[in-house]
Amino acid sequence: MISRLRKRPWLMILLLVLAASPGTSAQTKLEATPAEPMAADERVSAALGQVSAEHIRTNIEKLVSFGTRLTLSAQDPDSVAAGRGIGAAREWIKSEFERYSRDCGGCLEVKIDSFTEPAADRIPQPTKIANVYAVLKGTDAQNAKRIVLVTGHYDSRNSDTLDTKGDAPGGNDDGSGTAVSLECARVLSKLKFPATIIFLTVAGEEQGLNGSQHFAKMAKEQGWNIEAVLNNDIVGGDNAEQDRSVVRVFSEGLPAAATEQDIGRIRGLGGENDSASRQLARYIADVGRAYTDDVGVKPMLVFRLDRYLRGGDHYSFNQQGFAAVRFTEFREDFHHQHQNVRRENGIEYGDLAKFVDFEYVAHVARLNAAALASLASAPAPPANVRLLTKDLENDSTLTWEASPGGRAAGYEVLWRATTNPEWEHVQKIGTSLRTTLKLSKDNVIFAVRAVDAEGHCSLPVVPAPQR
Ligand SMILES: [Zn+2]
Repeated sequence: MISRLRKRPWLMILLLVLAASPGTSAQTKLEATPAEPMAADERVSAALGQVSAEHIRTNIEKLVSFGTRLTLSAQDPDSVAAGRGIGAAREWIKSEFERYSRDCGGCLEVKIDSFTEPAADRIPQPTKIANVYAVLKGTDAQNAKRIVLVTGHYDSRNSDTLDTKGDAPGGNDDGSGTAVSLECARVLSKLKFPATIIFLTVAGEEQGLNGSQHFAKMAKEQGWNIEAVLNNDIVGGDNAEQDRSVVRVFSEGLPAAATEQDIGRIRGLGGENDSASRQLARYIADVGRAYTDDVGVKPMLVFRLDRYLRGGDHYSFNQQGFAAVRFTEFREDFHHQHQNVRRENGIEYGDLAKFVDFEYVAHVARLNAAALASLASAPAPPANVRLLTKDLENDSTLTWEASPGGRAAGYEVLWRATTNPEWEHVQKIGTSLRTTLKLSKDNVIFAVRAVDAEGHCSLPVVPAPQR
């Protein structure tokens, strides 16, 4: 508030006028509390400074060096030894995670989720698919079961999604996203967090999201508490006409996993803009503001599941009921995606590493790392958040249960006009689990978040109505 007033003296004058006017109501005072960006954590800022465009360049060039990473390409021991095909890529990613783990005293558990996908449209015969991931286990016994996850797909393709032999460099799609997962693992494994972070790279994306579907289903079946999934797919900053100051963040509106009952409530109360994935997107926008000096790219929220005619691995997680968003560069060059490497009529086709802007990927990795670190440092969101709707009244009463895991130092209520995309106001509540605000629930959308002693904020939870 202080810095905001210093920057905007007119705001101080406005507040003084409001405070002095005899008609000032509690409602006006509440509305004069604009939401501040969350506070940056110095430890995280220092880690973001370790993200290296040079490391990212080395990793993307290494991924491209495997020739093709088509999910159907070779993965027998000879091809792994020869360094060509998806098997060689998988083994290299695993060895990278293991190297980062050695550097942090074995802090990462490196795992492979391997399965055989039956024959399907883009899979001519049963094919082994393997997701490679590293787990940075939370240090707090009660919070280690909470998981935040970053992912990219390491498989690639060219013009023909069944071409097992031809080159498919996949520098941007999705060498860039794979490099983001790897770089986040390298940098964040040097820190400790109360909650768990998973650094994932999946295969099978280009054949039908097979790897992420298997992983998300496994997580659901095993009851994993995944609070957030960040999917990076095509974050290479390709193209001379690129806007390198922003990265798009796509989030679903109506949740893929919504039941008929959920949809009825969403329809009745105007909840179409408040899925858990959209709260995650807003949280990322807030992280972008908090770390604006460290990150170098601004999240641009797109309130849409994905681009026209396209899909991605975040959807696999959405289908299982997890909050998941997709990061993608602002403007894509379709000559450089899903194309055989060739030159035709003066146009260079193919997803070559030379079209990737490694500094841009580093900025996107910093934004991801800041979001992962913020979420893994924060308390769990408050449980069972309710908005009491038994009586017709112009005040609004919210109740909730304590943030599980015992790390919350207090709670905050956020609200915004129904027509505004992001949270506008915040009211600190202290440790109470209930509050009544002089604001009509008919006019705004509320949420409650938990905050720890250092100011780390949980994801906000929009209340369910309770009669
Ligand atoms: Zn992709």
